[in-house]
Amino acid sequence: MNGCLFCDIVARKLPAEVIKDDGVVVAIRDVNPQAPTHVLLMPYEHITSAAELTPAQDALWARLLHIAQEVAIDDGIVTSGYRLVTNVGRDGGQTVAHLHLHLLGGRRMRWPPG
Ligand code: AMP
Ligand code: ZN
Repeated sequence: MNGCLFCDIVARKLPAEVIKDDGVVVAIRDVNPQAPTHVLLMPYEHITSAAELTPAQDALWARLLHIAQEVAIDDGIVTSGYRLVTNVGRDGGQTVAHLHLHLLGGRRMRWPPG
C-alpha cells in the first residue's frame, strides 16, 4: 500500500533491522524498544489492524504467532516469558496502520498496561 511505513519496510524500500522473513511474515527490531527484546511481526499483506482480519486470514494470524515463538526462542526469553500485543485503532494506541504484533520480553512486564 502506497504511503504505508510497514509496507515499505517489508518491501525493503526503507531500512530496518530484519531478523526473520519467511516470505509471508517479517520480524524487525522496534526502532524505539520498550524492553530488551522488542520485535515487531508483520505480514507482507497490508491489513490495517486486527479489527480487519477475516477468517480467510486465520492461517496468517497463526503464522505471526509461530514466528513470534521462534523469535522468543532465538532471543532466549521463551522460558522467562514475554508479552504479545497488537494495538488496534486510536484507543488501542496504534500508530502504524499496518497489522503488527509486538513481542516484548527480557524484563518483567507490568499489568495493567497504560
Ligand atoms: P503501534 O504504536 O502499536 O502502531 O506500534 C508501532 C511501532 O513501530 C512503535 O513501537 C514504533 O517504535 C515502531 N516503529 C516506527 N517506525 C519504525 C521503524 N522505521 N522501524 C522499526 N520500528 C518502527
Ligand atoms: Zn502496509
